[in-house]
Amino acid sequence: MAVIRDAVVVGAGTSGCYAAATIARAGLDVVVLDRKSASEAGHIACGDALKGADTFPESIPKSAIEAAFTNTDVDHGRFEIPAEDVVLEIPVPGELAVVDRWEYGRLIIAGAERAGATFHYDTVVSEVIQDDAGVVTGVRGRRGGDPVTYEADVVVDGAGAMSVLQDEVDFTGTTFDTNVNYRQFCSAYREIVRVPEPVPWDDALVFKPTKRAAGYLWYFPRTPTEINVGLGFQMTEPPMTLVDDLRADLRARPEFRGAVVEDKLGAALPTRRPYDSAVAPGFVAVGDAAGHVNPTTGGGIAGAAYAGQYAGEQVVEAVTEGGPSEAALWAYNAQVMDHFGARYAGLDVYNILSTAVDVDDLMGLLASLPTAKLSEALYSGSADLGWWLKLKTAVKSLGYWDVIATVYRAKRHADRLLDHYGDYPDTPEGFADWQARRDAIMADVYRVTGAQPKY
Ligand SMILES: Cc1cc2nc3c(=O)[nH]c(=O)nc-3n(C[C@H](O)[C@H](O)[C@H](O)COP(=O)(O)OP(=O)(O)OC[C@H]3O[C@@H](n4cnc5c(N)ncnc54)[C@H](O)[C@@H]3O)c2cc1C
Repeated sequence: MAVIRDAVVVGAGTSGCYAAATIARAGLDVVVLDRKSASEAGHIACGDALKGADTFPESIPKSAIEAAFTNTDVDHGRFEIPAEDVVLEIPVPGELAVVDRWEYGRLIIAGAERAGATFHYDTVVSEVIQDDAGVVTGVRGRRGGDPVTYEADVVVDGAGAMSVLQDEVDFTGTTFDTNVNYRQFCSAYREIVRVPEPVPWDDALVFKPTKRAAGYLWYFPRTPTEINVGLGFQMTEPPMTLVDDLRADLRARPEFRGAVVEDKLGAALPTRRPYDSAVAPGFVAVGDAAGHVNPTTGGGIAGAAYAGQYAGEQVVEAVTEGGPSEAALWAYNAQVMDHFGARYAGLDVYNILSTAVDVDDLMGLLASLPTAKLSEALYSGSADLGWWLKLKTAVKSLGYWDVIATVYRAKRHADRLLDHYGDYPDTPEGFADWQARRDAIMADVYRVTGAQPKY
């Protein structure tokens, strides 16, 4: 069977729904395909913490999803560092909500449907169709077990981390970022746990380092008695036994005595810089499929929503004005870099750093830093420590001077990167030169951190 539409969106997650809603609102014909069933759609492995909950792109406005915000009282992160016997309470800038993620998933699907998008569930996409000139013209897969072909002017890849669609496209001669490998991802697992008594930290996101480097545990309170608990590790590390490690930590915490597990899910998430270019002729990648996640916190919902809207807007313009060439879709890349991509690329330097320094040293250093500055560093991609603060930090953290020196050197290059992403080209023409200059900065990052090249 062949289905013909203006646009096909693969994935009914945040990025796919926002892209589809934007395209449908402009009056184009769009179908969203998801491998899940109608009843399972929207059920996504997540920590359920929604940073930037105050603003949401207009194509599915905040008012349409607010009913899923179950905890809006969270205003800080609680960093537990057992090795230092320290708990840091770090303010989180901006509005934050912990959400009922499945309900949120259903609400964004309903929002895209109201905008005019059609959803085909039980549809597994396994092939991308390209014409002789390499332009993507559709996808093939199975719907309810039967072979199906979708033809469209544009395919939007919102199929999540490690999207299989990108293995199917020949990107030769395009700018699309193919420098993607497992070292740039995190493997994560979470459970929804109900506890008999309210936890004492229902206004905080709780973080704790795992015993092994470059991993952390989280406890995010959806309500005072329903907690999203999970953990993840960078795939550069030897694999953790996620379920057992989580179990061991839960058993050691008195607030989880008598807890009942309500739901379990695991998945990979990108902890890398955004794709240098997420467009090719007839093809756009959004959200996790394009690395639109804060690489230090793993937060990807807001980035996926905005990327979906930006991609949708550019798809509409390209399809209605001469066709979705790479140049016609390019403004989407620039918009992502301008809004959050540059910041995430800067933060990626600290992710790279964390794979190269001893985790105990890093935690010791964190324990000695001013918490307001830590908050700034976590979310802005840069923090300006005044001289007096530097001195105070240095005195308090005598044992960690080597790490401090490395962090400061890395920060210098993170700031250079931020500046460089500010010069992201307006057209594909300046792209190769921009990439070469960026790669030179990254070489300095690897040199000062001693980290293995990530890209
Ligand atoms: C354990 C974990 C915890 C996280 N915690 C947080 C958090 O607390 N806060 C936060 O902001 N972010 C968090 N994230 C990241 C966040 O969940 C993602 O960034 C966000 O969901 C990305 O949305 P997306 O639409 O790009 O992809 P997804 O939400 O992954 O959606 C992809 C969709 O594509 C479908 N699909 C995939 N392949 C195919 C195929 N071949 N054919 C058809 N359909 C397909 C899937 O079924 C799915 O519905 C977490 C991620 C993980 C894994």
